[in-house]
This record gives sequence, structure tokens and C-alpha cells, in this order.
Amino acid sequence: MTAPDSPWPRTIAHADMDAFYAAVEQLDDPSLRGKPLLVGPNSDRGVVLTASYEARPYGVGSAMAMARARRKCPDAIIVPPRFERYSEVSRTIMCVFGDFSPHVEAISLDEAFLDLTGSHDLLGPPRTVGKNLKDAVREATGGLTVSVGISGTKYVAKVASDFEKPDGLTIVAPDDAKSWLAPMPVSRLWGVGPKTEAKLHALGLRTIDDFATADPVWLVKKLGKAGEHFHALSQARDPRPVEGRRGSKSIGSERTLSKDVSDREEIKRYLRRSAEEIGKRLRHKTYKAFGVRVKLKTSGFQLLTRQHRRQQPTDLAADLYTDACMILDAFDHRGPFRLVGMAAYDLARDGDTPQLDLFSGGTRKNRKLETAIDALTRRFGQDILQRAGDMKKTRQTPNLDFLQNMQEDEDREEDEN
Ligand SMILES: [Mg+2]
Repeated sequence: MTAPDSPWPRTIAHADMDAFYAAVEQLDDPSLRGKPLLVGPNSDRGVVLTASYEARPYGVGSAMAMARARRKCPDAIIVPPRFERYSEVSRTIMCVFGDFSPHVEAISLDEAFLDLTGSHDLLGPPRTVGKNLKDAVREATGGLTVSVGISGTKYVAKVASDFEKPDGLTIVAPDDAKSWLAPMPVSRLWGVGPKTEAKLHALGLRTIDDFATADPVWLVKKLGKAGEHFHALSQARDPRPVEGRRGSKSIGSERTLSKDVSDREEIKRYLRRSAEEIGKRLRHKTYKAFGVRVKLKTSGFQLLTRQHRRQQPTDLAADLYTDACMILDAFDHRGPFRLVGMAAYDLARDGDTPQLDLFSGGTRKNRKLETAIDALTRRFGQDILQRAGDMKKTRQTPNLDFLQNMQEDEDREEDEN
């Protein structure tokens, strides 16, 4: 057993904003405070994205059909979602988390793991850190609350953050974790949905303790690999690390030109080539980028960079190119330039971020087109496809005979001008 006040072998916090979208709406519009609120499209076919805590006693919650939620809670005010605003608040929150740990793993806009291992001397014991974290979020956002769970594993920290929601703070010492989990229903096991739950009930597994005390060989026989996984969780065993630091990687593509350029349209054509290369490599590596950076080097060898952070991460050349053109407009320097390049940075793994652009047909179309191009170039080589616009221009501008310089920088910092 560890002495009560000594640091744990691993300390992991899970922080989860309370009724995030609804809370942001109530923060921004005081007339909505204290009232039942449903954030989601006001159509019969839409679903509730978030219900405020005032609406939840009526039995409504996220993912419920809007029509049904309206019947259950006729007084609810329906507010269409404002994802740009939620992303903005999300960035604020993630910045606060970053003040508490260099290892922050965002798992959605309003939820993250923080690795606090080794921070005991600097930040204090878990309860102090948790309290300070909650205060810092409230202050930075102007009043939003976050629920925090702290334990020795990601799994227990996540269950703990939900334990006293809203505005909760639950600390589970690693030595107590197994007995703390024991009486909870199997639906609390990470990965158990309604279907699995029914299956587990049929096997006589109702509590986490039922799992913890079951014969692991029998569990594997009945449930396959999942049996092993749930058995480990029931014992509070979860070795998964907090995977943070997504800002440290970037994927870039730049060209040193055989002839300096000043013409904007020409610069944009180089940027489009770079965007296509970067998009392809992002998709290949299943990364999406939050940040886009444009880099220009003047004929006098002065390096200029400008960057832009996106609301939503992307792996599509069309998005990267649009951003790059916007960034290009922000440069005061008119050239001539001897190098044109861009980079995608602040990379997140696919699946780390919620798909907020689900409804955008344009994005879907671009994705289809670009993945089709990926497949063709894989089969026939790089030069098989050139956009029609590029081909015409190629004939007019021999300058495309450049020295191509692709690079992948790890932890590289560029000068900001
Ligand atoms: Mg939340």
C-alpha cells in the first residue's frame, strides 16, 4: 500500500465539461440560464446534441430524437448548435489543461486526459490539482464548470469524472480503485454498450465485481478478446498512456524555385501542389491537421512565416489550399520569393476529434475525389494526374522545373516574423 500522502506511481486526470454545448449557450445568453435547453437542429429528424441539466429530469439526453425530446420536455428551448463557438471555447479549455500538464490528450472538444505523473511536488496532491484545475477552467471561460476524475489509470479517471457530475471532483487512489469499481454495473466498463450489456447480463455478469472475480479463461471463452480486456479493467488495470503532444509534429512541403516569384497566382499554384502533397501524406498517416503554416523566403533570404489555426482539423488538400491562400493574403511582403512552402501542424489522429463536419457535402465530395487520386497515383505513379488548370499553366511557366524539397520536421520551430 502507498502512504496516503505520497505520490502515486501514475497520476491521470480526466476532465469533462458539464453539458458543454448547452452550458456555452447559457453562458453566452443569460436569458437561457436556469432553463431547459436542447442544443440541436430544430427538425423532427434531428437529434439532441446536448441537453442542459434543467432538461435532463424530463428524461431527455444526447442522441435522442429531437421530436421525442420535444414531446418529453415541451417547454424546452431549442437552440441550433454553433460549432465555431464551441471550438473557440474548447481551445481555451485545452490551453488551461496545458498549464497543468505537458501531456494532454484531447478526446473530444470538451474532454481530455492529463498525465499528472510526477507533478506532485510542483502542483500538490491530486485533490489540490483537481480543485485548481476546476477553478482555472471556470475563470478562463467566464463561468463554465468541468468535472474532474483523478486516479492511476485512464479508465478509472474517466469513470471518476462522471461520478459526481456536474461540477464534480472525484479522487480514487490507485490502491482503492478495484474496490471502488466493484459495485458498479457492467455498463460502466469502457466499451460496453447496450448490446454488450444485454449479453453480459445473460452470462450472469451484472457488476464489475462479477467480472473481477470471474475465471479469466471462462471470460475469454465466452467473450473472446473483449473478455480479457474487460477483466483487466475490472481489476483497475489499464496501462494505456496519455498520448498527448500532438503539437510537436508537422508535415511540410516546400520548393526552392529556379527563378524567384512575385506573382500571387503563381505562388498559389505552388501552394496548391504543396497542399496536395501534404493532404496525401496526412491521409496516408491518418493524421488531421489543426494548423496550417505558409513559409516564404525572400530573394534576400529573409524567412517569413504566417500561420492559421483551423476550427476543424483536416486532411484534405482543398481545405489546406484554401487556408494557405488566406494566409498568403496576410503577408505584407510582396516578394520576390525564392522559396514557397507550407506545413500542416498540430496534428491529431483520425478519431481523436469529433466529426463536426458530418453534414458538409462539400467536404464529403472533396474527400471522395482526393482519396480517388490517392489510389490512382499509388497505382500509376505521381505524374498521372494533374489538375487541368495546372497543366495549362505548366506549359506557360517553365518555372515549375524546381528543386523539390519535401521535409518532415519533428519538433521543428520556425521563426515567426
Ligand atoms: Mg462533456
